[in-house]
Amino acid sequence: MKFAFLIHPLNAYTKLLLHLGAGGFFAKDRQELDLFDFYADLHNTVQTQGRTVQDAASDDVRVVDEMAELVSHNGCRAAGRIYEVPMQATEIIDNPQQAVGYMEKAVDQAADWGAELVGLGSMTGVVGSQGVYLANRGTTAITTGNCLTAYATLENLRSLSEDAGIDLADEIVTVVGCPGSIAMALAHALVGKCRELHLVARRLSARSQSLAEQLGAKLLLDIPEALSQSRVVLSATSSGDCIDQAWLQPGSVVLDVAIPSDVVWQPEPRPDVLVISAGLATVPQQMIGDSMLLGFYGGLVPSCLGETIILALENRPENYSVGRDLDPKHIQEIGQLAHKHGFDFTRLTSFGLPIAENEFTRFRKIVTQHGARPQRKIPAGTDGAPPANVLPDIPSLAQRARQRYQRYVNPVWAALGGESGLVKTFVRAEGAFLYDAADRRFLDFVAGYGSMNLGHNHPAVVEAVSSALTQKAPGFAQTAVNPLTAALAEKLISITPGSLELAFFTNSGAESVEAALKLARAATGRTGLLSCEGGYHGKTFGALSVTASPHYQRPFSPLLADTAVVPFGDLETLERALSTRRFAAFIVEPIQGEGGMNVPPAGYLAEARKLCHDVGTLLIVDEVQTGLGRTGELFAVNHDGVEPDIMTLAKSLGGGLVPLGAMLARRDLWTKAYGTLDSFALHTSTFSGGSLACAAGLATLDVLCNDGLADSARQHGRQLMATLTELCRQSTILQAVRGRGLMIGLEFQPISKAIAHQFERMALAANAEFMVRGLDDLIQTIPVTYVMATLLHEHGIYTQFTRSNPNVLRVQPPLIVTERQADHFCEAVEQACSECFYVSGLAESVLSKSIGDHRNQ
Ligand code: PMP
Repeated sequence: MKFAFLIHPLNAYTKLLLHLGAGGFFAKDRQELDLFDFYADLHNTVQTQGRTVQDAASDDVRVVDEMAELVSHNGCRAAGRIYEVPMQATEIIDNPQQAVGYMEKAVDQAADWGAELVGLGSMTGVVGSQGVYLANRGTTAITTGNCLTAYATLENLRSLSEDAGIDLADEIVTVVGCPGSIAMALAHALVGKCRELHLVARRLSARSQSLAEQLGAKLLLDIPEALSQSRVVLSATSSGDCIDQAWLQPGSVVLDVAIPSDVVWQPEPRPDVLVISAGLATVPQQMIGDSMLLGFYGGLVPSCLGETIILALENRPENYSVGRDLDPKHIQEIGQLAHKHGFDFTRLTSFGLPIAENEFTRFRKIVTQHGARPQRKIPAGTDGAPPANVLPDIPSLAQRARQRYQRYVNPVWAALGGESGLVKTFVRAEGAFLYDAADRRFLDFVAGYGSMNLGHNHPAVVEAVSSALTQKAPGFAQTAVNPLTAALAEKLISITPGSLELAFFTNSGAESVEAALKLARAATGRTGLLSCEGGYHGKTFGALSVTASPHYQRPFSPLLADTAVVPFGDLETLERALSTRRFAAFIVEPIQGEGGMNVPPAGYLAEARKLCHDVGTLLIVDEVQTGLGRTGELFAVNHDGVEPDIMTLAKSLGGGLVPLGAMLARRDLWTKAYGTLDSFALHTSTFSGGSLACAAGLATLDVLCNDGLADSARQHGRQLMATLTELCRQSTILQAVRGRGLMIGLEFQPISKAIAHQFERMALAANAEFMVRGLDDLIQTIPVTYVMATLLHEHGIYTQFTRSNPNVLRVQPPLIVTERQADHFCEAVEQACSECFYVSGLAESVLSKSIGDHRNQ
């Protein structure tokens, strides 16, 4: 369907722009064009071509832009022409009669061309009783586009509230421009959504009074007064330039719907207010074509044009938004149609310039720091009584957790799963279960990658930490002796193997590894560090240097010098490497956790110990994940009776409540490295051995030993291994089951190469470069991801794959898991595997039809 849209120059400069635009001057290279370029170009043009603003004057209606073929992604088509009414905004207001005359002329020309609908842009939508006059002439259908403008403004407000951290329920919202049609539509939509509604009219009229009464809103006639009472302002007058930014309170946001704008532009923007050009829509990129208007801001257009295009695409030549009273049903309907055709309302601009995401963060900070928006106060406790409600309740924090996470923690991670996907938001945890905000419980088979051996919030650990708090244990008092640190060191040493005798406490596994590597170099005087392929020791620089994953290492190189790797489980290569006698240490996990739960051949660790000993290389056993009962012994080295020179721990040491790790070393090594007045403080950390962490550690070791959790792990591990191994024999997608105790991995068949290739081609074709990076890994994991999703959604079991080998599903419940829970897990895996077999079979056959001979690539 053909449509026409009427525009007029807002001011002298846009007049020139329209003049030049029609000749195609701005059509070229405009992809990169922004306002700054525009003004620069404009000045340039005026100077180099000797044109003046006055030259650009034209005194008749004319076509200034053409949208020859608009095709929406669902195949709907339209064609449009943009007609210029040769009067500036102020001229139209001053002489509406003349403007309507031009508009009639434009409508007639458009009708001759074949247009069945005419949209009225900017001030042309105001004069002539908002389209009523032209609609009554009956030449073509008319719309002011105001319904979509109102819809877009409400969408902008929604997005802005999220971005700027505004909760409308707490706010007085002011709508300036009553009783104009857009202002009224906005006011109607906001009733009940904000704390109070204020309306601002230019003068007192029966109409605005009755509107205010009907909506339960307060009516004001003075803009500065209204702005002093409210910090969320929507403005839609037809007068323009009626809000001076100096009147705005700090922390104010203004959604300015008017074109030309209501808020007066000022060269120095105020950092403590946000002025948004509201009511704009972005047309889908594929529609932009050669049109100057659509291309100017990369598809960002006033919604009145958006509405006209959408009605044309829908083939609906109707008088849609006409007259003062907009139909709320039309507002909703046009909004939905806009989404259907791929229009977007999330791009926010200020005076025509895009607002960077960090602008919102900066604004929020300023507002918070200046106390401009009311902050929740923590009520002071009386007479030593604890203050009430210090912490907001977690389910209420969970409501915006994903958006906050996406903005402030990790945008990709939070976006990856979506709420229905695999990235969950948990609000509570107890024992072996995690709970979401709907109080659905999930059996935790990840156990914090081995950090939750005791389960969540174990009462003994909670009690110990609480007791440390009630006893007012010292916080951090550097160089002082902390009784809790000393007690934990003694207890830990008493249960660790061999002659480990000194403990250094840390806050993470990687820190424990750092401490171990440094000690090894300092004690041996050698620099070489040997580790295993597929090993994982953490992501700080030192730990990463011995974590032989190109994926994790590449962006951060150069890492530590003088490192080398040998295959895990291969004694011959190890012996050859060690014979160079350049290695200070060989660091190894008894079972490679993140590498895919890889168990070395029997006797490997004992023999490695001997080989190291023979050449003076220290053996660092990384028990960060295998330690503290996980594999069915208190430490995995106990299975082989191996005595490491240095051992690293973390994860479950803090009882799953407090970060706590440790590096344990032989006395002679410690003495060599740090045993003098000069060297005893060479390796320290502010938080090392903190009271709460050590209190948690003491209780954790008690529970582990007294409740026989290592024995439980062995027992339940055997049960799981037996059932899962049987399942593996029968399943075609489950390739291997391996592990020890409750450290088990299920290796799934990766998806076929042909399908992976096809996905990659699809992503490349869609220019989705961000997908292609890392896509290989992601696609390979379709079967394992399918099983994870089924376990999560259908069986309430939370699982994850191993970090460096994403085809391996970790079976790693807390050691307190029961026989019934283990059975439930096995049944669920069996069901998920058989479903997955059918699903991947189906996917392969469908996709392979479109791949042809890529199968062998
Ligand atoms: N070593 C091993 C064996 C690990 O499994 C991990 C963590 N998965 C680390 C070190 C690093 O621990 P963190 O993430 O606490 O730094």
